[in-house]
Amino acid sequence: MLLREVGYARPGSLGEAIQLLAADDGARALAGGQTLVNVMKARAGSPDALIDLGRIEELRGIELGADGTLEIGAMTTYTELVESSEARARPILGEVCAQIADVQVRNRGTIGGNICTSDPTNHLPPLLAALGAEMTIQGGNGVRTVAASDFFLGVYMTAVGPGELLTKIRIPAGRNDGFAAVTLGIDGTCIVSAAATQNGGLTLAIGCVDAVPVVLRPASADDDAVRAAVQDANLDPPSDVHASSEYRRHLAGVLAVRAAHQAQGSS
Ligand SMILES: Cc1cc2nc3c(=O)[nH]c(=O)nc-3n(C[C@H](O)[C@H](O)[C@H](O)COP(=O)(O)OP(=O)(O)OC[C@H]3O[C@@H](n4cnc5c(N)ncnc54)[C@H](O)[C@@H]3O)c2cc1C
Repeated sequence: MLLREVGYARPGSLGEAIQLLAADDGARALAGGQTLVNVMKARAGSPDALIDLGRIEELRGIELGADGTLEIGAMTTYTELVESSEARARPILGEVCAQIADVQVRNRGTIGGNICTSDPTNHLPPLLAALGAEMTIQGGNGVRTVAASDFFLGVYMTAVGPGELLTKIRIPAGRNDGFAAVTLGIDGTCIVSAAATQNGGLTLAIGCVDAVPVVLRPASADDDAVRAAVQDANLDPPSDVHASSEYRRHLAGVLAVRAAHQAQGSS
């Protein structure tokens, strides 16, 4: 069976893309297409029109500020993040992007698409939550900045509203980060993931145990304190064909300790 007919536009500027999205409730932004096109093929979604962001220069690029802050355009691909010398200011970004799927997905998939999907099994939502990233969102009413803690609202739901686009992601300076995941096969999506950053105190973000990353701040970076923080969070993860709720809860503690070790340079 063929897909339903779908409109397609490839605007050359951010302003034009926002206008096209605002003009049609059924229009959706198309980034790398690695989730959206599959959703359409599975008939789980059926946009009226695709607004291809691929030609918009304002959404590209990785800038390293003098203070070590990274500003990453939403259309930056995983491969660009892996290969960028600027992104090496925060090495965990390239390390985690290199773990996502296969070379085709990494060449097409974008940091913006990954977090706008807000799929709990994706690698980047917990990572960006732990790093304290800020997202810039632009629409017809102007530009606003949203902290990662307010960006992820639910499964497939983010702070990006109708007629708006995520334009860039700002990541503060820092190097003491960690990430650990148990995935479906060697290059699959996560069954449970944990990201950690040590900046004053330890911040953890656990993925796949709730609709959005669960951010925790253990009393210290000791293994016992990390395990206690995970236990005290009373996680109630879903059970599915890949893992029971109980196993996911167990993995959350194990992976949080692993990520915390890496963040402290002890793994
Ligand atoms: C075989 C396979 C394996 C995969 N394995 C993994 C994995 O292990 N880990 C992982 O993290 N991901 C994995 N993915 C998902 C992949 O990372 C996707 O690239 C990602 O989820 C979506 O990014 P995209 O750029 O392709 O976005 P698209 O698919 O183009 O868009 C996804 C959604 O985000 C919206 N969107 C995109 N950009 C913007 C923007 N700038 N502003 C507002 N809305 C926007 C779109 O409208 C759409 O709703 C896998 C995908 C495939 C096909």
